[in-house]
Amino acid sequence: MPEKNQVCTAEITGLTAEGSGVCRVDGMAVFVPGTAVGDMAEIKIVKVLKSYAFGIVERIVTPSPDRVENTCSVYKQCGGCLLRHISYEAECRTKDSIVRDAFTRIGGLTPEFDSFLGAEATEHYRNKAQYPLAIRDGKAVCGFYAPRSHRLVPVTDCALQPEVFGEILRTVLGYINEKKLSVYDETTGSGIMRHIYLRRGAHSGEIMVCLVVRKDVSRQLSALCRLLTESFADIKSIVMNINPRKTNVILGDSCVTLWGSDTISDTMCGNTVEISPLSFYQVNTLQAERLYAKALEYAAPDGSEVIADLYCGAGTIGLSMAEKAAKIVGVEIIPQAVENAKRNAQSNNITNAEFHCGDAGEVFGKLRKQGCAPDMIVVDPPRKGCSQETVDLIAEASPKRIVMISCNPATAARDAKLLSEKGYSVDKVCGVDLFPRTGHVECVVLMSRDKA
Ligand code: SAH
Repeated sequence: MPEKNQVCTAEITGLTAEGSGVCRVDGMAVFVPGTAVGDMAEIKIVKVLKSYAFGIVERIVTPSPDRVENTCSVYKQCGGCLLRHISYEAECRTKDSIVRDAFTRIGGLTPEFDSFLGAEATEHYRNKAQYPLAIRDGKAVCGFYAPRSHRLVPVTDCALQPEVFGEILRTVLGYINEKKLSVYDETTGSGIMRHIYLRRGAHSGEIMVCLVVRKDVSRQLSALCRLLTESFADIKSIVMNINPRKTNVILGDSCVTLWGSDTISDTMCGNTVEISPLSFYQVNTLQAERLYAKALEYAAPDGSEVIADLYCGAGTIGLSMAEKAAKIVGVEIIPQAVENAKRNAQSNNITNAEFHCGDAGEVFGKLRKQGCAPDMIVVDPPRKGCSQETVDLIAEASPKRIVMISCNPATAARDAKLLSEKGYSVDKVCGVDLFPRTGHVECVVLMSRDKA
């Protein structure tokens, strides 16, 4: 077993989703952040647990061929882009194996794996950013929290965000500083301005500026609205979100439109979509469209089927399938997202889609009692996966096919395994990179009811 403070030389042979390289020292797995597969590195062991240990790099003896020069000045402090030190090709290889390992090792499953769908754009691909505010040297700044901390790393020009976001942030910060608006302090709960939250439609270019505040300060923001709309023609909506609570949840429940429209619109798979501050919308539109196209390929609807879309957000997946379905039944827990979904159906003249608000399991359970019997179920749960209740209900509904979309391969594999124990075969899995340069990876899974 390795010992604390031991220094040794080892070759990095794997990479985790957390961006840590993995090597073996005296037979034990050692996680070493910031390394790449193929690095020969001198490592100092800093912590030894029962079955694994942590190390830090003392010196790279021979660098991995995967290494690339990283071009972001805050890469180390910010921690958002865990894979910026390796080539994008190596990143796709890593993410593909993370997806495969989840299904084969966690799930004990043997699906066919489709080719990993890497992204064309690896920079400026996001359509959403939420920047907390803080005071530095007496001035308001914004940025991102360093990993596992609430220590702000000042950033206005994040490489993953649209370039215009940097200019908007500087305008808002300039205004806050000039008017001496107070900045929220997490420890005392005092101060007003909490977050600057920006969204931009990837196709439409429409921008929403959402200012998250502790209490209503609309009067103090009217001159800012003028300044922003005079400088940025693409801003279509300025919203104040009021969050009075002492919490690290970013958004409060109440939104007040200060200027323009309550929502911005964009297109997703050819349908127009309305996006409000509180509704979920995939952050990488172009890759989400490829993800949904894969989901549609797996679902292969024939036009006669009822499709349930659980965890449907603003309805984008179901609506992209509506033309090839008898009926779409969506379920989503956020009321504003359900409202958006209904309006999205209307504005695209889709008349065979209905949307219900509430917990996926609870609502789907009720719908089942009322006779809802989908031929196919699409599920797209948050990172923690489906609840046991939802998995049970899906199996009990016994659809011909299940298409699962997930931003967490580990919980997707767990849920797929549960369904495989309830009479489903896990046929195909495809990894899709919605989050280039970060440690996250998405996957789509096709399951079908065993013939037996
Ligand atoms: N399918 C959508 C949204 C996927 S994200 C899209 O691709 O855009 C997951 C969604 O599940 C979010 O909209 C979230 O609000 C919703 N959600 C989270 N927990 C839920 C629950 N228990 N029941 C129903 N929906 C839930």
